[in-house]
Amino acid sequence: MNHTQNRDQSERPHPIALATLIGRELRGYKTEKPLVCYGHAGLAKRGEDYFLIKPDCQRIPGNPSTSFSVFAIFDGHNGVSAAVFTKEHLLDHVMGAIPPGIGREEWLHALPRALVAGFVKTDIEFQRKGEASGTTATLVVIDGLTVTVASVGDSRCILDSNGGTISLLTVDHRLEENEEERERVTASGGEVGRLNLCGGQEVGPLRCWPGGLCLSRSIGDMDVGEFIVPIPHVKQVKLPDSGARLIIASDGIWDALSSEIAAKCCRGLSTELAAKLVVKEALRTSGLKDDTTCLVVDIIPLDHSNLPASPRKHRNKFKSLLFGMPQNSFSKLTNKSSSVGAIEELFEEGSAVLEERLGSNIPSKTNSLPYRCAICQTDQTPNEGLSFLLPVSKNWEGPYFCSDCRRKKEAMEGKKSMRATVSR
Ligand SMILES: [Zn+2]
Repeated sequence: MNHTQNRDQSERPHPIALATLIGRELRGYKTEKPLVCYGHAGLAKRGEDYFLIKPDCQRIPGNPSTSFSVFAIFDGHNGVSAAVFTKEHLLDHVMGAIPPGIGREEWLHALPRALVAGFVKTDIEFQRKGEASGTTATLVVIDGLTVTVASVGDSRCILDSNGGTISLLTVDHRLEENEEERERVTASGGEVGRLNLCGGQEVGPLRCWPGGLCLSRSIGDMDVGEFIVPIPHVKQVKLPDSGARLIIASDGIWDALSSEIAAKCCRGLSTELAAKLVVKEALRTSGLKDDTTCLVVDIIPLDHSNLPASPRKHRNKFKSLLFGMPQNSFSKLTNKSSSVGAIEELFEEGSAVLEERLGSNIPSKTNSLPYRCAICQTDQTPNEGLSFLLPVSKNWEGPYFCSDCRRKKEAMEGKKSMRATVSR
């Protein structure tokens, strides 16, 4: 299953927003999108791995020049319903959290926050169904040379640049391997320990109790504590002019192969063959112990000699103008900009504190009602308990949450139980 995305730029022009025009002016405009080719391979043992391939999404529906691609893997546990639900709804929830009518640069800048809102909203809605099961979620959005990855759980996305640099775009949310997450779970009221056999013998990986899950973040999982949160680690990078290859795979692959071996064993092969070879190599190394799913995506610029250098300072000033936010709101974006080989790191954040991830809401109408919930995107009017949401002081710039989403937030922080309020 190969696909190419090569846009015909001679198509009928569309009305262009002023913001878009200014954005193009500031960075130098490039019309050609890189080719995005992909391949998929997988072997099922339990049948709980799901994946999503959407190469033809559009920021502005009906306008092919605003296209972007989405790839995702959902590795379910204790049943498939969380993985199926997340596959069906996560992308819509993420896109629904991006303000409409903004240009490409602003859209890319809003994406990390929208990913957090979309993941949490998907978890809240799945839990409302009252069904068991949970899932990892690794969602990759490719727009031109900008790659944004959001993930909870232990599926992984690696990047192999043509210069030979292999980097990890996700963080493993396994209690066994993530000390920071163990501390967070314990501080929120969870207990972390191994399975205790009769006789007191401890076996297996570190798990969180109640529930016994090995992961510290997931979507779903009603039967474990709320401190197993759906808040994703998000990383956004700009690829070098020469493009790169992404390998997105479930833990069935990564338990058998290191990032280096997975990347190196399939270099030079087409994406379809590469995906098959990675799965085959994992099978050869460890046997079929778990579901294994692998997506290989090549991002190939058509003519990389034309790519302009990005004037970052100007772009950031422009963003703060557009969003009406102070320059220091973007400190995480600018301070972390650094070169990893030729890969430009634009954004990285993994905090489980929602206020740190959602910032102040992008106002739909500046300084006027209604307030929009930063998670579910519903508008709150004064008659709907807005006094609960009003800022405590004029300087308060935190995100607004509706009462349901606020309850979810407090439950995740270990402040109160969510059970009675979410199942309805
Ligand atoms: Zn809400």
